[in-house]
Amino acid sequence: MKNECAIVRDLLFSYSDGVLSMTSKKLVEEHLTTCESCRKILEEIKQDEEKKSQIKEIDYLKFVKKKMNKKNVALFISILILLLLILFHILVYNRYNEIASTMDIYLQDDITKEEYEAIKNKILEQNNSIEMKYVSKESSLEKLKENLGERANLLDGYQEQNNPLYAFIEIKADTSTEIQAIAEAIQSMPGVVSIRTYQNYNPYGLFLFGITDHIK
Ligand SMILES: [Zn+2]
Repeated sequence: MKNECAIVRDLLFSYSDGVLSMTSKKLVEEHLTTCESCRKILEEIKQDEEKKSQIKEIDYLKFVKKKMNKKNVALFISILILLLLILFHILVYNRYNEIASTMDIYLQDDITKEEYEAIKNKILEQNNSIEMKYVSKESSLEKLKENLGERANLLDGYQEQNNPLYAFIEIKADTSTEIQAIAEAIQSMPGVVSIRTYQNYNPYGLFLFGITDHIK
């Protein structure tokens, strides 16, 4: 009997896995009907295997959860980047609309009072709530020196007599369409040298690099 127990116990793992030949299976089952201690060992083997498969299941769940977390993080970062891009785009276009609804009208040095008044009246004809500001050659030069900061010495040779800048009228309208209309109305009037509008500027370029000053 003891000898048979040893043989059966060797076979119990394979029996539990269901991989025994019919003959061996019969041998084990016949022995189990008569031997209590071998039945107990089989019980233990089965319990062990159940635990192992539970642990495997838990590991698998952990693995899936980890993977989901990684996916969520990637999704979160994508959404964040998208929102930042949209925000940047909005900032760029707000700034563009602001700048595109302004213009500068550069004036000839020898412009007469009548020519100047005619230009102003023409602008007000388009829309009488438009903001206008006259900037003299002198303050234009001062402003440019300010903007240049440390590089202001580039302008050292320029004084009142040889000021390289034009006097101009700064215009601020509500929309870029209004600016377009004013530009068309006044561009060939006497006393006007040139007009600067920003409609054709690249919005991103304007936002990132700003605008440069108008020099003769
Ligand atoms: Zn036995």
